[in-house]
Amino acid sequence: MVNLRSPKKAKLGQNFLTDRKAAERIVDALGDVSQSLVVEVGPGRGALTDTLVQRAGRVIAIEFDRMLATELRFKYSREPKMEVLEGDVLAIDFGTVLNRTIGPLNDLRPLKPERARLLGNLPYYITSDILLHIFKFHDQFDWIVIMVQREVADRIAAKPGTRDYGLLSATAQLYTHVEKLFTLPPGAFAPPPKVHSSVLRMKVAPRFDELGVAADEFIEFLKMAFAMKRKTLLNNLKKQYAEGQIRAALKQAGARADVRAEALSLEKSAAVFRALPGMH
Ligand code: SAM
Repeated sequence: MVNLRSPKKAKLGQNFLTDRKAAERIVDALGDVSQSLVVEVGPGRGALTDTLVQRAGRVIAIEFDRMLATELRFKYSREPKMEVLEGDVLAIDFGTVLNRTIGPLNDLRPLKPERARLLGNLPYYITSDILLHIFKFHDQFDWIVIMVQREVADRIAAKPGTRDYGLLSATAQLYTHVEKLFTLPPGAFAPPPKVHSSVLRMKVAPRFDELGVAADEFIEFLKMAFAMKRKTLLNNLKKQYAEGQIRAALKQAGARADVRAEALSLEKSAAVFRALPGMH
C-alpha cells in the first residue's frame, strides 16, 4: 500500500514531545494562566495541550493537520473552554479571532483577558514566518513561550556584536524581551529531530516609541542594513542613500564609518536611521 501521508507529515515538522516533565516546564514558563486566554500553535497530539487545558482560563489551539485537529476536537469535546481551529497559523488574523464577540465562546467572554498568551512547540520549517506573523499582532499578546531549533533560539536571543546576531535577532528584540530558558535533546521527541530544541520566553514590549522610530519604516531599514552580511552598513545602505548622507548619519549617531549592522545596538541603529534624510 502506498503511504500518501508521510511526505506531507515530514513537511509539517511533526516531532512530537514525549518528555512529560519537559512539557510541564514549558507550560510553567507561561506563568499563572488561570485567567488567561492561551493560543497554542501546532498542538499536534496534545503534549502541551493536556497541561494547558487544566490550567488556562481558555485555550484556542491552531493545528494545520486535519487528522490531528479532528482527534483533538474529539479528545476535548467535553471541555467548553477549549477550541480547536484547523488551519494554517500564518493565515490566522489574530485581531479577529481573539476579539470575537459572538459565537459559541460567548459564555466564556468574562475570561477574556486584556491580552492573550501564545504557546507553541513550533514547526521548525516556518519558525521565522510564524514569529513575524505574531509580531504583526503584537498588541494582542503579552507573553510568548515557544520551542524552536536551538540554533534559531540562539539567533533570536543573540546580543549585538556576536556571531549569531542578525535581522531575526534585531526584529525579535524590537518587539519583545527575549529569555532563553532551557534546551532539550532530540530524544525528548518522537520521531527525534536531527537538532536540539530550545525554549524561549518572550515578553511582548515593542520599543519603537522609546527608540523614536516608525515601526514599518525602521524594519524596512533593518532589512536593508542586514541585506548582505559581509558588507558594511555603509555599503548596504548605498542602495537607497547617497554616500555622503550615510557617512553624515553614521557620524551623527556616533558609529564608525566601516561598522557592520550586526555590531550595532538597536539604539545605535535607530540613531543612524533617524539621522538619514526623510526618516525623522
Ligand atoms: N505541540 C506538539 C508537541 O509538542 O508534541 C506538536 C509539535 S510539532 C513540532 C509541530 C506541530 O505544528 C505539528 O502538529 C504540525 O502538524 C503543526 N503545524 C505545522 N505547520 C503548521 C501551520 N502552518 N499551522 C498550524 N500548525 C502547523
